[in-house]
Amino acid sequence: MEILNYTEEHRIFRDSLRRFLEKEITPHVEEWEEAGIVPREAWKKMGEQGYLAMGVPEEYGGPGADFLYSVIVTEEMTRTNHSGLAAALHSDIIVPYIQSFATEGQKHKYLPGCVSGDIITAVAMTEPNAGSDLAGMKTTAVERGDEIVLNGQKTFISNAINADLVVLAARDPHTEDPHRAVDLFLVEAETPGFEKGKQLKKVGWHSQDTGELFFNDCRIPKENRLGEKGSGFLKLMLKLQQERLVCAIGAVAGAEYMLELTIKYCKERTAFGKPLSKFQNTQFEIVEMATEVRLGRTFIDKLVADHMEGREIVVDVSMAKYWTTEMASRVADRCVQLFGGYGYCEEYPIARAWRDIRVTRIFAGTNEIMKVIAARFMGL
Ligand SMILES: Cc1cc2nc3c(=O)[nH]c(=O)nc-3n(C[C@H](O)[C@H](O)[C@H](O)COP(=O)(O)OP(=O)(O)OC[C@H]3O[C@@H](n4cnc5c(N)ncnc54)[C@H](O)[C@@H]3O)c2cc1C
Repeated sequence: MEILNYTEEHRIFRDSLRRFLEKEITPHVEEWEEAGIVPREAWKKMGEQGYLAMGVPEEYGGPGADFLYSVIVTEEMTRTNHSGLAAALHSDIIVPYIQSFATEGQKHKYLPGCVSGDIITAVAMTEPNAGSDLAGMKTTAVERGDEIVLNGQKTFISNAINADLVVLAARDPHTEDPHRAVDLFLVEAETPGFEKGKQLKKVGWHSQDTGELFFNDCRIPKENRLGEKGSGFLKLMLKLQQERLVCAIGAVAGAEYMLELTIKYCKERTAFGKPLSKFQNTQFEIVEMATEVRLGRTFIDKLVADHMEGREIVVDVSMAKYWTTEMASRVADRCVQLFGGYGYCEEYPIARAWRDIRVTRIFAGTNEIMKVIAARFMGL
Protein backbone atom coordinates (compact mmCIF):
# COMPACT_ATOMS: atom_id res chain seq x y z
CA MET A 1 0.00 0.00 0.00
CA GLU A 2 1.29 3.46 -0.91
CA ILE A 3 1.48 5.97 1.93
CA LEU A 4 0.77 8.95 -0.31
CA ASN A 5 -2.32 9.08 -2.49
CA TYR A 6 -0.97 10.23 -5.81
CA THR A 7 -3.78 10.53 -8.36
CA GLU A 8 -3.59 10.08 -12.11
CA GLU A 9 -3.33 13.89 -12.41
CA HIS A 10 -0.30 13.88 -10.13
CA ARG A 11 1.34 11.18 -12.25
CA ILE A 12 0.64 13.02 -15.51
CA PHE A 13 2.02 16.18 -13.92
CA ARG A 14 5.23 14.39 -12.85
CA ASP A 15 5.76 12.99 -16.35
CA SER A 16 5.30 16.31 -18.09
CA LEU A 17 7.49 18.11 -15.54
CA ARG A 18 10.24 15.52 -16.00
CA ARG A 19 10.09 15.92 -19.78
CA PHE A 20 10.19 19.71 -19.43
CA LEU A 21 13.21 19.56 -17.12
CA GLU A 22 15.07 17.15 -19.42
CA LYS A 23 14.50 19.48 -22.36
CA GLU A 24 14.70 22.97 -20.85
CA ILE A 25 16.76 22.75 -17.68
CA THR A 26 19.21 19.83 -17.56
CA PRO A 27 20.98 20.73 -20.85
CA HIS A 28 21.96 24.12 -19.34
CA VAL A 29 23.14 22.97 -15.95
CA GLU A 30 26.86 22.79 -16.87
CA GLU A 31 26.75 26.33 -18.22
CA TRP A 32 24.99 27.63 -15.08
CA GLU A 33 27.43 25.82 -12.80
CA GLU A 34 30.26 27.61 -14.61
CA ALA A 35 28.45 30.97 -14.49
CA GLY A 36 27.59 30.61 -10.79
CA ILE A 37 24.01 31.68 -11.40
CA VAL A 38 20.86 30.67 -13.23
CA PRO A 39 19.52 33.22 -15.74
CA ARG A 40 16.18 34.77 -14.93
CA GLU A 41 14.71 33.39 -18.16
CA ALA A 42 14.95 29.88 -16.71
CA TRP A 43 12.84 30.96 -13.73
CA LYS A 44 10.39 32.53 -16.18
CA LYS A 45 10.15 29.31 -18.17
CA MET A 46 9.36 27.38 -15.00
CA GLY A 47 6.71 29.95 -14.13
CA GLU A 48 5.13 29.96 -17.58
CA GLN A 49 4.67 26.20 -17.35
CA GLY A 50 3.03 26.55 -13.95
CA TYR A 51 5.82 24.88 -11.95
CA LEU A 52 6.41 27.68 -9.41
CA ALA A 53 4.52 28.51 -6.22
CA MET A 54 1.87 25.93 -6.95
CA GLY A 55 0.25 26.30 -3.53
CA VAL A 56 -0.78 29.92 -4.25
CA PRO A 57 -4.59 30.14 -4.52
CA GLU A 58 -6.28 31.06 -7.80
CA GLU A 59 -7.33 34.51 -6.57
CA TYR A 60 -3.63 35.44 -6.43
CA GLY A 61 -2.74 33.90 -9.78
CA GLY A 62 -1.71 30.39 -8.68
CA PRO A 63 -3.28 26.99 -9.23
CA GLY A 64 -3.94 26.39 -5.51
CA ALA A 65 -2.49 22.89 -5.87
CA ASP A 66 -2.08 20.49 -2.96
CA PHE A 67 1.30 19.89 -1.31
CA LEU A 68 1.88 16.67 -3.28
CA TYR A 69 2.54 18.83 -6.35
CA SER A 70 5.26 20.62 -4.38
CA VAL A 71 6.71 17.26 -3.38
CA ILE A 72 6.79 16.24 -7.06
CA VAL A 73 8.55 19.47 -8.07
CA THR A 74 11.14 19.07 -5.29
CA GLU A 75 11.81 15.45 -6.25
CA GLU A 76 12.03 16.10 -9.97
CA MET A 77 14.22 19.20 -9.55
CA THR A 78 16.60 17.06 -7.47
CA ARG A 79 17.07 14.82 -10.49
CA THR A 80 18.37 17.80 -12.51
CA ASN A 81 21.38 17.57 -10.17
CA HIS A 82 21.89 21.26 -9.59
CA SER A 83 20.89 23.80 -6.98
CA GLY A 84 20.74 27.13 -8.82
CA LEU A 85 17.11 27.13 -9.81
CA ALA A 86 15.97 26.76 -6.22
CA ALA A 87 12.29 26.24 -7.01
CA ALA A 88 11.44 24.53 -3.71
CA LEU A 89 13.08 27.31 -1.70
CA HIS A 90 11.10 29.94 -3.57
CA SER A 91 7.77 28.09 -3.84
CA ASP A 92 7.50 26.11 -0.63
CA ILE A 93 9.70 27.96 1.84
CA ILE A 94 9.59 31.69 1.05
CA VAL A 95 6.32 32.29 -0.81
CA PRO A 96 4.33 30.71 2.06
CA TYR A 97 5.45 33.60 4.32
CA ILE A 98 3.77 36.03 1.91
CA GLN A 99 0.77 33.78 1.40
CA SER A 100 0.15 33.35 5.12
CA PHE A 101 1.17 36.69 6.62
CA ALA A 102 1.08 39.51 4.03
CA THR A 103 -1.81 41.96 3.65
CA GLU A 104 -4.38 41.45 0.90
CA GLY A 105 -2.80 44.28 -1.08
CA GLN A 106 0.67 42.72 -0.82
CA LYS A 107 -0.64 39.30 -1.81
CA HIS A 108 -2.20 40.77 -4.96
CA LYS A 109 0.95 42.77 -5.63
CA TYR A 110 3.53 40.00 -5.22
CA LEU A 111 2.02 36.52 -5.48
CA PRO A 112 1.13 36.57 -9.20
CA GLY A 113 4.77 37.45 -9.98
CA CYS A 114 6.02 34.69 -7.67
CA VAL A 115 3.89 32.24 -9.65
CA SER A 116 4.91 33.53 -13.10
CA GLY A 117 8.63 33.65 -12.28
CA ASP A 118 8.79 37.44 -12.67
CA ILE A 119 9.49 37.78 -8.96
CA ILE A 120 12.30 35.66 -7.52
CA THR A 121 12.37 35.56 -3.73
CA ALA A 122 14.97 35.13 -0.99
CA VAL A 123 14.72 34.74 2.77
CA ALA A 124 17.35 36.53 4.83
CA MET A 125 17.79 35.35 8.39
CA THR A 126 21.47 34.45 8.78
CA GLU A 127 24.09 37.06 9.64
CA PRO A 128 27.87 36.84 9.86
CA ASN A 129 27.57 36.38 13.64
CA ALA A 130 24.13 34.83 13.94
CA GLY A 131 23.28 31.56 12.24
CA SER A 132 22.01 28.87 14.57
CA ASP A 133 21.54 31.48 17.27
CA LEU A 134 19.03 33.62 15.39
CA ALA A 135 18.08 35.49 18.54
CA GLY A 136 21.53 37.06 18.33
CA MET A 137 20.81 38.82 15.04
CA LYS A 138 21.98 42.44 14.85
CA THR A 139 20.08 43.80 11.84
CA THR A 140 17.74 46.48 13.17
CA ALA A 141 14.29 47.64 12.17
CA VAL A 142 13.29 50.98 13.69
CA GLU A 143 9.89 52.61 13.21
CA ARG A 144 9.96 56.24 12.09
CA GLY A 145 6.51 57.61 11.35
CA ASP A 146 5.00 55.58 8.54
CA GLU A 147 8.29 53.95 7.70
CA ILE A 148 10.65 51.33 9.02
CA VAL A 149 14.37 51.96 8.75
CA LEU A 150 16.54 48.88 8.26
CA ASN A 151 20.25 48.64 9.04
CA GLY A 152 22.47 45.59 9.02
CA GLN A 153 23.98 42.77 7.05
CA LYS A 154 22.89 39.28 6.04
CA THR A 155 25.01 36.48 4.63
CA PHE A 156 24.66 33.02 3.06
CA ILE A 157 21.44 34.13 1.36
CA SER A 158 20.26 31.82 -1.41
CA ASN A 159 19.02 33.59 -4.58
CA ALA A 160 20.68 36.77 -3.24
CA ILE A 161 21.72 38.11 -6.62
CA ASN A 162 18.58 37.18 -8.56
CA ALA A 163 16.18 38.17 -5.79
CA ASP A 164 13.49 40.77 -6.49
CA LEU A 165 11.84 40.43 -3.12
CA VAL A 166 13.38 39.51 0.21
CA VAL A 167 11.68 38.27 3.36
CA LEU A 168 14.01 39.83 5.90
CA ALA A 169 14.32 39.06 9.60
CA ALA A 170 15.36 42.06 11.70
CA ARG A 171 15.06 43.14 15.34
CA ASP A 172 13.70 46.13 17.18
CA PRO A 173 16.73 47.38 19.17
CA HIS A 174 14.40 48.80 21.86
CA THR A 175 12.82 45.44 22.75
CA GLU A 176 14.96 43.45 25.15
CA ASP A 177 13.39 40.01 24.91
CA PRO A 178 15.06 38.68 21.74
CA HIS A 179 12.07 36.45 20.99
CA ARG A 180 9.72 39.45 20.96
CA ALA A 181 12.17 41.74 19.16
CA VAL A 182 12.32 39.98 15.80
CA ASP A 183 9.99 40.67 12.89
CA LEU A 184 9.81 39.72 9.25
CA PHE A 185 9.70 42.39 6.54
CA LEU A 186 9.15 42.46 2.81
CA VAL A 187 11.92 44.37 1.05
CA GLU A 188 11.92 44.99 -2.68
CA ALA A 189 15.32 44.76 -4.36
CA GLU A 190 15.18 48.28 -5.80
CA THR A 191 14.60 49.97 -2.43
CA PRO A 192 17.25 52.68 -1.80
CA GLY A 193 19.65 51.57 0.92
CA PHE A 194 19.35 47.90 0.01
CA GLU A 195 22.45 46.52 -1.69
CA LYS A 196 23.48 43.12 -2.86
CA GLY A 197 27.02 42.22 -1.85
CA LYS A 198 29.37 39.66 -3.22
CA GLN A 199 28.42 36.19 -4.27
CA LEU A 200 30.03 33.55 -2.04
CA LYS A 201 32.48 31.05 -3.52
CA LYS A 202 31.28 27.73 -2.22
CA VAL A 203 32.55 24.16 -2.22
CA GLY A 204 29.35 23.06 -3.94
CA TRP A 205 26.03 24.50 -5.09
CA HIS A 206 27.97 26.29 -7.83
CA SER A 207 24.97 27.45 -9.86
CA GLN A 208 23.25 28.90 -6.78
CA ASP A 209 23.77 32.66 -6.37
CA THR A 210 24.27 32.58 -2.60
CA GLY A 211 25.42 35.97 -1.37
CA GLU A 212 25.46 38.84 1.08
CA LEU A 213 22.83 41.54 1.51
CA PHE A 214 23.34 44.99 3.06
CA PHE A 215 20.82 47.43 4.50
CA ASN A 216 21.95 51.00 5.10
CA ASP A 217 19.16 53.30 6.26
CA CYS A 218 16.89 51.34 3.97
CA ARG A 219 13.36 52.71 4.35
CA ILE A 220 10.32 50.58 3.72
CA PRO A 221 6.63 51.31 4.38
CA LYS A 222 5.42 50.22 7.82
CA GLU A 223 2.89 47.82 6.29
CA ASN A 224 5.79 45.77 4.91
CA ARG A 225 6.15 44.20 8.34
CA LEU A 226 4.50 40.80 8.11
CA GLY A 227 1.79 40.65 10.75
CA GLU A 228 1.79 42.04 14.25
CA LYS A 229 4.89 43.60 15.75
CA GLY A 230 6.96 41.13 17.75
CA SER A 231 5.61 38.03 16.04
CA GLY A 232 8.57 37.29 13.73
CA PHE A 233 10.03 34.44 15.75
CA LEU A 234 6.70 32.71 15.97
CA LYS A 235 6.26 33.07 12.21
CA LEU A 236 9.68 31.57 11.60
CA MET A 237 8.91 28.64 13.89
CA LEU A 238 5.60 28.05 12.12
CA LYS A 239 7.16 27.96 8.68
CA LEU A 240 10.39 26.17 9.48
CA GLN A 241 8.49 22.87 9.77
CA GLN A 242 7.75 22.90 6.04
CA GLU A 243 11.28 24.12 5.25
CA ARG A 244 12.79 21.16 7.06
CA LEU A 245 10.36 18.74 5.50
CA VAL A 246 11.23 20.05 2.02
CA CYS A 247 14.91 19.63 2.87
CA ALA A 248 14.30 16.00 3.92
CA ILE A 249 12.28 15.30 0.75
CA GLY A 250 15.18 16.64 -1.33
CA ALA A 251 17.68 14.52 0.60
CA VAL A 252 15.76 11.28 0.04
CA ALA A 253 15.16 12.12 -3.63
CA GLY A 254 18.88 12.89 -3.94
CA ALA A 255 19.84 9.56 -2.37
CA GLU A 256 17.46 7.72 -4.71
CA TYR A 257 18.94 9.52 -7.70
CA MET A 258 22.55 8.77 -6.68
CA LEU A 259 21.75 5.12 -6.08
CA GLU A 260 20.06 4.85 -9.47
CA LEU A 261 23.14 6.31 -11.19
CA THR A 262 25.38 3.94 -9.29
CA ILE A 263 23.41 0.77 -9.97
CA LYS A 264 23.43 1.57 -13.70
CA TYR A 265 27.17 2.23 -13.63
CA CYS A 266 27.96 -0.94 -11.67
CA LYS A 267 26.05 -3.03 -14.19
CA GLU A 268 27.97 -1.51 -17.11
CA ARG A 269 31.50 -1.19 -15.76
CA THR A 270 33.58 -4.35 -15.77
CA ALA A 271 36.64 -5.38 -13.78
CA PHE A 272 38.35 -8.75 -13.63
CA GLY A 273 36.11 -9.86 -16.51
CA LYS A 274 32.72 -9.19 -14.94
CA PRO A 275 30.43 -6.26 -14.14
CA LEU A 276 31.10 -4.52 -10.82
CA SER A 277 27.54 -5.46 -9.81
CA LYS A 278 28.59 -9.12 -9.70
CA PHE A 279 31.12 -8.58 -6.89
CA GLN A 280 29.66 -9.44 -3.54
CA ASN A 281 31.00 -6.24 -2.00
CA THR A 282 29.20 -4.14 -4.63
CA GLN A 283 25.98 -6.05 -4.03
CA PHE A 284 26.21 -5.61 -0.27
CA GLU A 285 26.96 -1.91 -0.65
CA ILE A 286 23.98 -1.40 -2.94
CA VAL A 287 21.60 -3.47 -0.82
CA GLU A 288 22.64 -1.62 2.33
CA MET A 289 22.21 1.74 0.65
CA ALA A 290 18.85 0.75 -0.85
CA THR A 291 17.69 -0.28 2.63
CA GLU A 292 18.57 3.11 4.09
CA VAL A 293 16.99 4.93 1.17
CA ARG A 294 13.76 2.97 1.64
CA LEU A 295 13.71 3.75 5.34
CA GLY A 296 14.08 7.42 4.45
CA ARG A 297 11.36 7.24 1.80
CA THR A 298 8.88 5.59 4.18
CA PHE A 299 9.67 8.10 6.90
CA ILE A 300 9.24 11.21 4.75
CA ASP A 301 6.16 9.97 2.90
CA LYS A 302 4.50 9.44 6.28
CA LEU A 303 5.55 12.95 7.34
CA VAL A 304 4.23 14.48 4.13
CA ALA A 305 0.88 12.79 4.82
CA ASP A 306 0.88 14.08 8.43
CA HIS A 307 1.90 17.57 7.29
CA MET A 308 -0.92 17.65 4.75
CA GLU A 309 -3.36 16.69 7.49
CA GLY A 310 -2.16 19.69 9.48
CA ARG A 311 -0.57 17.67 12.29
CA GLU A 312 2.24 19.12 14.37
CA ILE A 313 5.32 17.11 13.52
CA VAL A 314 8.11 19.23 14.98
CA VAL A 315 10.00 16.34 16.56
CA ASP A 316 9.60 13.99 13.61
CA VAL A 317 10.53 16.61 11.06
CA SER A 318 13.65 17.57 13.03
CA MET A 319 14.62 13.90 13.18
CA ALA A 320 13.86 13.48 9.47
CA LYS A 321 15.90 16.51 8.43
CA TYR A 322 19.00 15.37 10.31
CA TRP A 323 18.68 11.66 9.52
CA THR A 324 17.83 11.91 5.81
CA THR A 325 20.58 14.43 5.08
CA GLU A 326 23.13 12.27 6.89
CA MET A 327 21.82 9.18 5.15
CA ALA A 328 22.08 10.91 1.75
CA SER A 329 25.64 12.00 2.55
CA ARG A 330 26.58 8.41 3.44
CA VAL A 331 24.98 7.19 0.23
CA ALA A 332 26.82 9.84 -1.80
CA ASP A 333 30.16 8.81 -0.37
CA ARG A 334 29.63 5.09 -0.94
CA CYS A 335 28.38 5.73 -4.48
CA VAL A 336 31.49 7.74 -5.36
CA GLN A 337 33.60 4.84 -4.09
CA LEU A 338 31.79 2.41 -6.40
CA PHE A 339 32.44 4.72 -9.36
CA GLY A 340 36.17 4.56 -8.61
CA GLY A 341 38.25 7.37 -10.18
CA TYR A 342 35.41 8.41 -12.45
CA GLY A 343 33.36 9.25 -9.41
CA TYR A 344 35.82 12.02 -8.68
CA CYS A 345 35.54 13.53 -12.17
CA GLU A 346 33.28 16.42 -13.06
CA GLU A 347 31.95 14.69 -16.18
CA TYR A 348 30.20 12.19 -13.96
CA PRO A 349 27.02 13.53 -12.30
CA ILE A 350 27.76 11.56 -9.14
CA ALA A 351 30.69 13.93 -8.43
CA ARG A 352 28.42 16.99 -8.28
CA ALA A 353 25.72 15.14 -6.38
CA TRP A 354 28.29 14.11 -3.75
CA ARG A 355 29.66 17.65 -3.44
CA ASP A 356 26.23 19.27 -3.31
CA ILE A 357 24.64 17.03 -0.68
CA ARG A 358 27.09 18.12 2.03
CA VAL A 359 25.47 21.46 2.74
CA THR A 360 22.07 19.95 3.49
CA ARG A 361 23.45 18.99 6.92
CA ILE A 362 24.28 22.64 7.57
CA PHE A 363 21.40 24.76 6.29
CA ALA A 364 17.71 24.87 7.16
CA GLY A 365 18.95 24.59 10.76
CA THR A 366 22.09 22.52 11.28
CA ASN A 367 21.66 18.86 12.13
CA GLU A 368 22.87 19.57 15.65
CA ILE A 369 20.13 22.18 16.05
CA MET A 370 17.60 19.59 14.79
CA LYS A 371 18.64 17.35 17.69
CA VAL A 372 18.48 20.29 20.12
CA ILE A 373 14.87 20.96 19.01
CA ALA A 374 13.85 17.29 19.13
CA ALA A 375 15.39 16.89 22.60
CA ARG A 376 13.56 19.98 23.88
CA PHE A 377 10.20 18.83 22.53
CA MET A 378 10.80 15.35 23.94
CA GLY A 379 11.09 16.97 27.36
CA LEU A 380 14.72 16.00 27.87
C1 LIG B 1 24.64 27.18 0.65
C2 LIG B 1 23.95 27.84 1.80
C3 LIG B 1 22.70 28.42 1.60
C4 LIG B 1 22.05 29.08 2.66
N1 LIG B 1 20.87 29.73 2.43
C5 LIG B 1 20.34 30.53 3.41
C6 LIG B 1 19.23 31.40 3.14
O1 LIG B 1 18.68 31.40 2.02
N2 LIG B 1 18.79 32.21 4.13
C7 LIG B 1 19.37 32.25 5.36
O2 LIG B 1 18.92 33.01 6.21
N3 LIG B 1 20.42 31.44 5.65
C8 LIG B 1 20.94 30.60 4.70
N4 LIG B 1 22.03 29.80 4.97
C9 LIG B 1 22.65 29.87 6.29
C10 LIG B 1 22.45 28.62 7.13
O3 LIG B 1 21.12 28.51 7.53
C11 LIG B 1 23.43 28.71 8.31
O4 LIG B 1 24.73 28.53 7.78
C12 LIG B 1 23.14 27.72 9.40
O5 LIG B 1 21.93 28.03 10.06
C13 LIG B 1 24.24 27.61 10.44
O6 LIG B 1 24.61 28.87 10.90
P1 LIG B 1 26.17 29.28 10.94
O7 LIG B 1 26.72 29.04 9.59
O8 LIG B 1 26.27 30.65 11.50
O9 LIG B 1 26.85 28.24 11.90
P2 LIG B 1 26.92 28.33 13.52
O10 LIG B 1 25.58 28.66 14.06
O11 LIG B 1 28.05 29.20 13.90
O12 LIG B 1 27.25 26.83 13.88
C14 LIG B 1 28.58 26.29 13.81
C15 LIG B 1 28.53 24.88 14.41
O13 LIG B 1 28.13 24.96 15.79
C16 LIG B 1 27.03 24.11 15.99
N5 LIG B 1 26.12 24.66 17.01
C17 LIG B 1 25.65 25.93 17.09
N6 LIG B 1 24.82 26.04 18.12
C18 LIG B 1 24.74 24.82 18.70
C19 LIG B 1 24.03 24.28 19.83
N7 LIG B 1 23.18 25.03 20.55
N8 LIG B 1 24.22 22.97 20.15
C20 LIG B 1 25.05 22.21 19.42
N9 LIG B 1 25.74 22.65 18.35
C21 LIG B 1 25.59 23.94 18.00
C22 LIG B 1 26.34 24.03 14.63
O14 LIG B 1 25.49 22.90 14.55
C23 LIG B 1 27.52 23.96 13.72
O15 LIG B 1 28.01 22.66 13.65
C24 LIG B 1 22.65 29.10 3.94
C25 LIG B 1 23.88 28.47 4.14
C26 LIG B 1 24.54 27.87 3.10
C27 LIG B 1 25.89 27.26 3.33
